[in-house]
Amino acid sequence: MSKLSRFNHFQLREDGNYIAYNAFSGAVALMTAENYSIYGLIVKKLAGDPKTELNEKEKELLKQLEYGHFMAPDDLDELESMKFRHNWVRYDQTSLGFVIAPTMACNMDCEYCYEENKSGSMSPEIMDTLVDFVDKRGPSLRSFSAGWYGGEPLLAMDTIGSLTERFLELGEKHNFDYGASIISNGVLLTPDTTDKLVEYKVRNVQVTVDGPGRIHNIKRPLKNGKPSFDTIMKNVTYAADKLTVSIRVNIDKSFDREIVGELLRELVEAGLHEKVALYFGLLEPATQVCSNISESCYETADFSKVEIDYYRMLLQNGFSITRLPSPTITFCMAQVCNSFLIDPAGEIYRCFNHVGNPDKTMGNIRDDIDYQHRNFRHLFAFEPFSDEHCRACSLMPICMGGCPSRRADRNLTGDQMCETWKHNLEPMLEIIAVSKQREQLKKAEKEKLDKQEAKVAAGEIK
Ligand code: SF4
Ligand code: SF4
Repeated sequence: MSKLSRFNHFQLREDGNYIAYNAFSGAVALMTAENYSIYGLIVKKLAGDPKTELNEKEKELLKQLEYGHFMAPDDLDELESMKFRHNWVRYDQTSLGFVIAPTMACNMDCEYCYEENKSGSMSPEIMDTLVDFVDKRGPSLRSFSAGWYGGEPLLAMDTIGSLTERFLELGEKHNFDYGASIISNGVLLTPDTTDKLVEYKVRNVQVTVDGPGRIHNIKRPLKNGKPSFDTIMKNVTYAADKLTVSIRVNIDKSFDREIVGELLRELVEAGLHEKVALYFGLLEPATQVCSNISESCYETADFSKVEIDYYRMLLQNGFSITRLPSPTITFCMAQVCNSFLIDPAGEIYRCFNHVGNPDKTMGNIRDDIDYQHRNFRHLFAFEPFSDEHCRACSLMPICMGGCPSRRADRNLTGDQMCETWKHNLEPMLEIIAVSKQREQLKKAEKEKLDKQEAKVAAGEIK
């Protein structure tokens, strides 16, 4: 027998049909008004006499509902099942994740940057220590991932290349999978560098663009004061054919529809709307260093309103919507024992916001990992299953309690800690549904064209 999932969302559309979404499975489906009323009958019948016979139509729909997890097995405690998977990953020793800053130096001078002017690259000694660490853990590993971070990591391509080579050798020796990603400002992401990154098993690159050229160049100038926008666009255009490229646009109160529209037009002109995953990030005053920007930052609830507006603009400009309410097992590295952010000196951190702050390190990679260190426990201590609001929340599978640093490092309360989904799931689902429908149409048109071309090639159509 089945029961209703506690993570269902049904949303009425203007045409009288529904968008059905389940946060546990991430399934999104369009449901006709007729099926929605059959769904209501099924729920009533199952809640009443369990022996009640369902008719053929109801049985067929029930199968589909079970497939999307809208109806869950009777004996499944969904929360317990999520908690089990969460803890499994939290304490998993078969995966290792390093975020490595091979340098803290940067070639840009962004107005909101929280990394105080740092320089220096990783010494050969620290590189050896990192490799030894992975080697020692190698026998128990099934996967190891590196995320290149900085400063600007592409300023230290030699370090990236040399470490990658050694990680790949260890992967062969211990039989674990290796993959990497990179967060870069994009200025040095030339075609040659992109090709090298592909060799170095980098699969995803995240680049930040802070508005159309004229604004981005003020917010994110090069260290020498020169503009960076055109170079980044040129680089990303090549990189997007070789790697998965996501463009993050940091939003603060200085943005409006006109500015976002101008940026989108520039990206469309560069042909990037069909190649990159663009998303809007909330600019937050995450540390003391950047508290000077707090007045221009949005609270999550306000951000979620403008975010919707901007996603509608993405849709209107032909971009695919890649921000999906997908289930996750943990929110970020801070919730996972075996994930570490390591700076060029070998200092270990638990959060991107903490890197470079000596008060936030949990030790050095040269020493044994101290899981009792206060800076380890500080973010790791929170787990969403012990929070009564999160336990009762129908979005828990996609949020997992949100950013631990937002909870622990800032004086926020209630909904302020929730992700934007909590505030804008309904309009986002509508945007996602339209985007999916459009992609299906495009796919169908392409298939039709391909078939026609094949017929022409076979001489069936002259
Ligand atoms: S704690 Fe928050 S800011 Fe830090 S890495 Fe996790 S999600 Fe990012
Ligand atoms: S942080 Fe908010 S949205 Fe996330 S699970 Fe908890 S209550 Fe739900």
